[in-house]
Amino acid sequence: MTLSPATSPHIAIIGGGFTGLAAAYDLTKAGVKVTILEADASLGGLAGGFDVGGYVLERFYHHWFSNDQHVVNMVRELNLEEQVVLRPTRTGMYYTKNFFKLSSPIDVLRFTPLSLINRIRLGLVVPRARAVKNWMKLENVTAREWLIQTCGKEVFRIVWEPLLVGKFGPYADKVSAVWFWKKIALRGSSRSSDGREILAYYRGGFAALADSIGQKVREQGGDIRLNTCVTGIESRDGLVTAVKTESESIPVTGVLATPALPLIADLVQGHTPKPYTDKLRRVQYLANICLVLELDRSLSDTYWLNVADPNFPFVGVIEHTNFEPPESYGGRHIVYLSKYLPAEDLLYSMSDDEVLDFSLPHIKRMFPAFNRSWLKAHHVWRAEYAQPIMEKNYSQMMPAVETPLKNLFISTMAQVYPEDRGTNYAIREGRAAAKLFIERLASERL
Ligand SMILES: Cc1cc2nc3c(=O)[nH]c(=O)nc-3n(C[C@H](O)[C@H](O)[C@H](O)COP(=O)(O)OP(=O)(O)OC[C@H]3O[C@@H](n4cnc5c(N)ncnc54)[C@H](O)[C@@H]3O)c2cc1C
Repeated sequence: MTLSPATSPHIAIIGGGFTGLAAAYDLTKAGVKVTILEADASLGGLAGGFDVGGYVLERFYHHWFSNDQHVVNMVRELNLEEQVVLRPTRTGMYYTKNFFKLSSPIDVLRFTPLSLINRIRLGLVVPRARAVKNWMKLENVTAREWLIQTCGKEVFRIVWEPLLVGKFGPYADKVSAVWFWKKIALRGSSRSSDGREILAYYRGGFAALADSIGQKVREQGGDIRLNTCVTGIESRDGLVTAVKTESESIPVTGVLATPALPLIADLVQGHTPKPYTDKLRRVQYLANICLVLELDRSLSDTYWLNVADPNFPFVGVIEHTNFEPPESYGGRHIVYLSKYLPAEDLLYSMSDDEVLDFSLPHIKRMFPAFNRSWLKAHHVWRAEYAQPIMEKNYSQMMPAVETPLKNLFISTMAQVYPEDRGTNYAIREGRAAAKLFIERLASERL
């Protein structure tokens, strides 16, 4: 089966998150017929929003770093630059029932749980990460090994170990140094000249940007079908011929799949060799649960609080309205409590009210002045495939964009490497996948 623009190719994109949207934007711009099939009722995927009293808020906290160039490029192309706001933010750490500000190098020097020499070692981790030239040398090293080597045992025990365990739970000792190195190097460079962290947000929320990209896709001739779950594919002679939904079979000349790898494995099983689906299932993920509180007042003056206390059940307390002001939410103060966990964890299967009841005593312990009467509403969001685990030698585990089916490409969060997932990289990878389709169509090799 040979395809060319003359045969009016039709690309189906599974998933209307930022990867799918960015790919659809470039494909429709190039005149290719595209249909986005999105299981959810709205666009944006993990960066999608929900309604808080008539305002849109991310289900899971989101910001950009000031150096997230691919988002900036996309926003610029859509003439939406004025929607992006850059602000300094306050970062802190909760350790032994105390709050420590950790927003700038001076704050690090004042971090009394560490000896002076170890504060300096902690402060040097960012320049040392940024000095890494050949990251492939870190592929065979765990984050634990690299951090102990870079900062010493005490810094690791007090600062990094609780955060690694809090974020990766049972996988804490498996996470590659590459993940940590890149995270630190990127976050460390999102700073003002005086060393303060600068983060970016989109007025109206990330969902508003997703909707604007979706709107542009439609204007360029693309079709977007919400509430449409892809349940399988049809294939012949090594090519996908159709994608199946609950109600129909849609003929395609190419497919871009953006859901998590195990979900793609379910879709292509029986159409690709078993070692391929095994490879897709080999990458491990953690789920995430976010308890979102709508409060009538602020909890603290910190935006991003890392929790280095194994007795506190969440790894981060993110007071979103210390970044985007409460006025954007009708005066509500918004706090996220975030935990990464295996989907089998008891907390993940609790009802929303059970999650709240479980969490309130811990919140009270951290913020003794907190009173339940401050709480106006609460929401709980869960994502089963929230964080792919970058183990050692991940470059060998990670599946390629191309698949055994010649006209099926996959571009997912788990293929963003050596950076960690993020909407900036979703846009980069979505656009790269679109470019590949366009090249293949032009050379009639699809
Ligand atoms: C807790 C948390 C915090 C985060 N914080 C940030 C942050 O601060 N900044 C940032 O930039 N990024 C952040 N991210 C990461 C960011 O959300 C993701 O990297 C990005 O949204 C991934 O986009 P995607 O399109 O690749 O995947 P997804 O957003 O997962 O999109 C995939 C889409 O496919 C759909 N789908 C799945 N199966 C099917 C099917 N069978 N048929 C049809 N549709 C299907 C899903 O509904 C989904 O909409 C965070 C993520 C989490 C979980």
